[in-house]
Amino acid sequence: MYGVGILKGMAVTFRHFVDTYLDDIHWLSRGGRYYNDDALQVRQGLNGRGVKTVFYPEEKLPVPERFRFVPFLVTEEPPAGQQWGHDWCTSCGICAKVCPPQCIWIERGKKPNGRPKPEPEKFFIDIDICMNCGLCAEFCPFDAIKMDHDYELASYDRTTAHIHDKERLSKPISYWREIAPQKAEAEAAARDFAKAAKKKPRGKRGEETAQDQAERIAEAKARQLIYRGALY
Ligand code: SF4
Ligand code: SF4
Repeated sequence: MYGVGILKGMAVTFRHFVDTYLDDIHWLSRGGRYYNDDALQVRQGLNGRGVKTVFYPEEKLPVPERFRFVPFLVTEEPPAGQQWGHDWCTSCGICAKVCPPQCIWIERGKKPNGRPKPEPEKFFIDIDICMNCGLCAEFCPFDAIKMDHDYELASYDRTTAHIHDKERLSKPISYWREIAPQKAEAEAAARDFAKAAKKKPRGKRGEETAQDQAERIAEAKARQLIYRGALY
């Protein structure tokens, strides 16, 4: 019979409409539906009732670890009483070279004697040009630039506000560990391996020292993490 399909479809829509209000009542005693992370997860799951819509910006879906947005610069934790920690960036310029749209500018620091200092004096990224490809983070030999998860960067000013300077870009390593724990762990393991390999003591020819063995294990662990897909 003509029209039955339409009526069935409308009945489904109507059921979701009513379920939405019933679900609202259900979550009222638990902090309300709009501002409750638990409620959001349940609603987005298979047992969710009513509307599945995410009410942005009050609600936000968590982004996966590999999510990439505009890069940031990694620093040490700031010492007590200071705003910025030591830069991991050595201003080698590799990220600026590999950046496809060329949106990174770096000015290397100088020592009092005029010789170059292995840290950036200035570092800029034009976020309107950045295409979030992640190549800068992939190529950085010092793990000093990472892809951020902060995607709420819109503003009414399309000029200077969209050119992020070093202060705006710098974030401590603890932030990276928080947003990408698996990757941060894998990178730390790889760094430890590289550090241990540099200090390699010479044993007798053909002999494997205890340190060689420890390094092999550390390398295996790092590779395991990499292969598990924790890195790129
Ligand atoms: S962020 Fe990395 S690749 Fe870019 S200049 Fe600094 S150390 Fe070099
Ligand atoms: S994410 Fe890509 S486009 Fe953006 S700064 Fe890095 S290399 Fe350049």
